[in-house]
Amino acid sequence: VFSHVVQAPEDPILGVTVAYNKDPNPIKLNLGVGAYRTEEGKPLVLNVVRRAEQMLVNDQSRVKEYLPIIGLSDFNKSSAKLIFGADSTAIQENRVTTVQCLSGTGSLRVGAEFLARHYHEHTIYIPQPTWGNHPKIFNLAGLSVKPYRYYNPQTRGLDFQGLLEDLGAAPSGAIVLLHACAHNPTGVDPTLDQWEQIRQLMRSKGLLPFFDSAYQGFASGSLDADAQSVRMFVADGGECLAAQSYAKNMGLYGERVGALSIVCKTADVASRVESQLKMVIRPMYSNPPIHGASIVAVILKDRDLYNEWTVELKAMADRIISMRKQLFDALQAKGMAYKLLFTLVIHVCTPGDWSHIIKQIGMFTFTGLNTEQVAFMTREYHIYMTSDGRISMAGLNSRKVPHLADAIHAAVAS
Ligand code: PMP
Repeated sequence: VFSHVVQAPEDPILGVTVAYNKDPNPIKLNLGVGAYRTEEGKPLVLNVVRRAEQMLVNDQSRVKEYLPIIGLSDFNKSSAKLIFGADSTAIQENRVTTVQCLSGTGSLRVGAEFLARHYHEHTIYIPQPTWGNHPKIFNLAGLSVKPYRYYNPQTRGLDFQGLLEDLGAAPSGAIVLLHACAHNPTGVDPTLDQWEQIRQLMRSKGLLPFFDSAYQGFASGSLDADAQSVRMFVADGGECLAAQSYAKNMGLYGERVGALSIVCKTADVASRVESQLKMVIRPMYSNPPIHGASIVAVILKDRDLYNEWTVELKAMADRIISMRKQLFDALQAKGMAYKLLFTLVIHVCTPGDWSHIIKQIGMFTFTGLNTEQVAFMTREYHIYMTSDGRISMAGLNSRKVPHLADAIHAAVAS
């Protein structure tokens, strides 16, 4: 009965790792995966996570009962404070409902399912480009997906004018997906002034913000700074949704820990919204898993552990920033050598402006390399990345920088 089933393509992002794993060459380098690696190229379990896990194991009173449909209460409260700020008036006025979900993806999906059932406008505008899973998540929840201009390949920066025009032309009430910080895949974020203009435009048109916050603390190393965009929208008293993930900032990728918050106008509305979120979740997976959320709750509630987390988080963010600098320097040095050689021989050759590598924010650099150049780098240098030229800076280390710089240089020159 299943013989008609056709082979589905590999996921464009996860498929990069599948191809990397098949490559026997020892010089291979995987820059496709969106997960942090140490300078030694190893996955990292934060020390603070190990400590929290030890505390959980030692606490004999802990049981493995089901959590409530909306998850662990302490986790939900602390997650709301983390993103909206400990002094958020929306939280104090009980206008926020927060439910534990299956990491960022699950939080986006639950939010989308809720909107499809209970919100009058079914169009969601997503940035162009965006994380490849976004359109699929929203489409499958029954929303209709439209792009808004975001990235300008010429400047390798924000297409702010295009963004304002597209959101300005969106029907009133439409949903708008916003990356809270460290936009994936471009690494290009609006400035605070630009965020303020986006907020004013969206509020004046009644557009509903749906924030995707997968990198809080990872962009700048500061949890508060990376939540500024979200807090601006909450401070004006209007509604919004926010999906949080602890995959990157606590390194809890496989634990699938995240939260969806919906900020409402009144406490009464928030309570009714929460009752409907339960109706979405119960038939999907009944209730979320307990272990990862307990780790997060322990860390967020204990001042010492929280402080230790911020130090470890900053160290990860700093290593990524340092990789940007090292790659930029290596390419600059190559560019200089190349320029010198050609000046002497025939003419000046400009191998490119790579300053976007240090300007972009977060885990990824949107290199500007095209599909052919990416294929060339994979074929000739065994370097793996998504075909749009996005490289994970977190997957890079000092030893591999020269190899990557050689490959980029050869790809651009070829
Ligand atoms: N949103 C964005 C922009 C992401 O980059 C990711 C992870 N790559 C996610 C959401 C969700 O990740 P997870 O489900 O692992 O938390």
